[in-house]
Amino acid sequence: MVGSATPETKQRHKILVRGIVQGVGFRPFVYGLAQEFGLSGRVANNIDGVEIEVEGPIIALATFIKALKDKAPPLALITDIIAHSISLANDRTFVIAASLFNNNIATTLIPPDMATCAACLAEFLDPADRRYRYPFINCTNCGPRYTIITALPYDRATTTMAYFNMCPTCRSEYDNPASRRYHAEPNACPTCGPELSLHDANGSLLAKGNNAATVASALLTEGRILAIKGLGGFHLAVDARNEEAVQQLRRRKGRAEKPLAVMAADLAAARLLCSLDPQDEIILTSAPRPILLAGPRVDNGLAAAVAPGINLLGVMLPYTPLHHLLMQNGPNVLVMTSGNISDEPIATDNQDALNRLSGLADFFLLHNRDIYLRNDDSVVIRIADKLRFFRRGRGYAPTPIFISQGGPTVLGVGAEIKNTVCLLTGKHGVLSQHVGDLENLAAYQTFKTTIKHLTDIFQAEPELVVHDLHPGYLSTRWALEDQNLNTLAVQHHHAHLAACLAENHETGPAIGIILDGTGYGTENTIWGGEILIGDCREAKRYAHLEPMPLPGGEAAIREPWRIAVGYLFSAYDGKLPDLPFLAQHAPDPILAILKKELNCPITSSCGRLFDAVAAMAGGRQRISYEGQAAIELSEKANDYMALPYPFDLETGNGILIIGIKALIRAIADDIRASSTLSKISSRFHTTLMGIFTEAAKRTRSATAINTVALSGGVFQNRFLLTGLVTSLTAAGFRVLTHSQTPANDGCIALGQAVIGRTMLKQN
Ligand code: ZN
Ligand code: ZN
Ligand code: FE
Repeated sequence: MVGSATPETKQRHKILVRGIVQGVGFRPFVYGLAQEFGLSGRVANNIDGVEIEVEGPIIALATFIKALKDKAPPLALITDIIAHSISLANDRTFVIAASLFNNNIATTLIPPDMATCAACLAEFLDPADRRYRYPFINCTNCGPRYTIITALPYDRATTTMAYFNMCPTCRSEYDNPASRRYHAEPNACPTCGPELSLHDANGSLLAKGNNAATVASALLTEGRILAIKGLGGFHLAVDARNEEAVQQLRRRKGRAEKPLAVMAADLAAARLLCSLDPQDEIILTSAPRPILLAGPRVDNGLAAAVAPGINLLGVMLPYTPLHHLLMQNGPNVLVMTSGNISDEPIATDNQDALNRLSGLADFFLLHNRDIYLRNDDSVVIRIADKLRFFRRGRGYAPTPIFISQGGPTVLGVGAEIKNTVCLLTGKHGVLSQHVGDLENLAAYQTFKTTIKHLTDIFQAEPELVVHDLHPGYLSTRWALEDQNLNTLAVQHHHAHLAACLAENHETGPAIGIILDGTGYGTENTIWGGEILIGDCREAKRYAHLEPMPLPGGEAAIREPWRIAVGYLFSAYDGKLPDLPFLAQHAPDPILAILKKELNCPITSSCGRLFDAVAAMAGGRQRISYEGQAAIELSEKANDYMALPYPFDLETGNGILIIGIKALIRAIADDIRASSTLSKISSRFHTTLMGIFTEAAKRTRSATAINTVALSGGVFQNRFLLTGLVTSLTAAGFRVLTHSQTPANDGCIALGQAVIGRTMLKQN
């Protein structure tokens, strides 16, 4: 066919394909297409992506280019295809050529780790296949990526697989452009690849190879706790139906109440655990395989200790062949929680795991493929018909957040808790995996490693490093420590607003409704219930919740009853009303510091308002994990038609103050009238929807801005987010929400980077 085209109808194109196109089977795909259309030429990886030269009839070339986009392999993510004509080379065949690398800045993207694909799973289950039940089976469409890549270009030598020499059979697959494993860098088999080993708590070897998995399954069935090496770190696993075993795990981990995620053997098993609609099932079975939060079924047989006090269950499906292997013979639902002591980052290294988890796990199921970068399971939920991230990690990171405009390279170092970092390069906001709470030393190490890794592999030298306004955040201190860095401080809630704008491809201006736990304000006060007017350059505080005292400062956050005392003290002019919850406590010392205004910073935080309402209404008095009181209160809300409580909006000094004293007093009255927690929660939520819809309308009247952006950790509240989106939309607003990045502090780094770049462009 190549020869049959006349020179006039024949052309040669040079095509550059950018995006996630390396390590995802893109070159064999291009090779296959060229064969299909009878075209000659070559394809190679370069530092920018994939470079193709292709020659043949004009019509066939057009179809070829269209097919590049339409038929791309499942893990590929194409951002640009740039094609132009070059002179004919009259080659006869199409070849996959050696990688072309020069010293340009890398703009290619690293793929995330992906769950075992259907084709690999079929081989895994086939007794005649040479990889039957092999726990490290993978191909160009699936398997580990981000967690094993040590540098770019992505090649076997720059992964933690470099240590394994491929056997001749694996090598022939790897070298064959027609094979599903052509340049699958983690390619391996039982002859040449990684292998399992089972150890007791002292590290002594008990079993090797697949026998290790068989014994591990039996131990899980007996109710033993196992540390299991996964993709981005270790899990602690235990039979999710064994009450005593789950309680034992909680005791050892020091995790009293925070819900534990479970892994179900397959979709059928997951359906018995919680109610899933078709959209949920698409998320659960997607290649990133996140933990999905869904409503548990009443008689699902799970131990009560899995997710006490909350109407949400985190469930995921097996995402490595090892998980499939374990669950074939063991319990069909396992608790799979991060292998760490509460608040520490997940363990990744075999020896580190043996050291750190020895008091937690009875046995260790290890293997000898190293994890280069830590990456926790992602946690998502579907709210108002969209995927929402609570934690963005394995399966998603480091897929970039695509933004609308390019510009200088900027690094955002994120907040203190739920830290992520973001390298903004070109149109790619490369948001790191969830790093965690930086006050934890191991998390802080991961923070530094991740910054180094991202800047190294992208060969990026940020022109600006952007940090939070809070001087005490370790991310701020890190940025300011190095005298050579050009730095910029950005207010926390402005960063929330910019992150929401950026992931929605907007630049503002918008009305930002930022409902959050804690953020450092501009006048040494703690913010968190704010309406900002702003864009990706600047923001102005237009309205906020009336500041209330936080007796004892940040320490009060662990004990919401203290916050309730502070809010009531303020709402009742220094006298506490008689409410049942007070009988459980000794409020006098709290009253004393409130009266003297000693260590009682004031806050406009919406998260603290939730804490106060939860505690005074008889909900959670003391919390054992962040946000617990608010989450439990919000899960009691069930009535969008509930009568709102009164509130006032008052303008003073050009700023709108949302008075909440009348609201607190009305809730106290409702409590004394013996209203149920569910009714109070519903009324409280409809009040917030009313407050922020009304405040947004007033902001619109004053500014003529009709776009609202919702951000902040409070928007993880599914009842509030759904209701507020509905009421704002009904009031004619365009409403922007988070669906690519978490609404919580996991989005801060992106917002910081975007603001930093805007400032650089303008100065
Ligand atoms: Zn595969
Ligand atoms: Zn092999
Ligand atoms: Fe925040």
